[in-house]
Amino acid sequence: MYDTNNIFAKILRNEIACKKVYEDNYSLAFYDIFPKKKIHVLVIPKGEYMNLGEFTNKASHDEIVGYFKAISKVIEQLQLINGYRLISNCDDHGRQEVKHLHFHILAGEDVGNMVCKHS
Ligand code: AMP
Repeated sequence: MYDTNNIFAKILRNEIACKKVYEDNYSLAFYDIFPKKKIHVLVIPKGEYMNLGEFTNKASHDEIVGYFKAISKVIEQLQLINGYRLISNCDDHGRQEVKHLHFHILAGEDVGNMVCKHS
């Protein structure tokens, strides 16, 4: 069940401030409060979807197209000429902390290996 009190829902309702990067009818992008790389931006859909599976199953065509175009627009706006990494953590094994769909855009430096191997 989607928790309407998750932190991104509060940001969407303007109950919590964010450092906005981009907004349109379907999406909002803002800087991550604890940046893991020099540039760390989160892009969220405005609708109440917990993860990618729920989003692609339940959202309208316009929401889906709008959201993925927004991610692309943010990347373009940030002028990430040397590249970037796009990540969406999902559920427990993906270590998703905030249960509202989001993609992380990590950039501004070499972001390193994709994941660490188990020891
Ligand atoms: P995830 O583990 O993929 O769910 O990532 C959630 C991200 O949200 C983390 O990188 C947090 O630093 C970030 N975050 C949590 N609260 C806020 C907030 N109020 N504003 C911006 N980013 C936040």
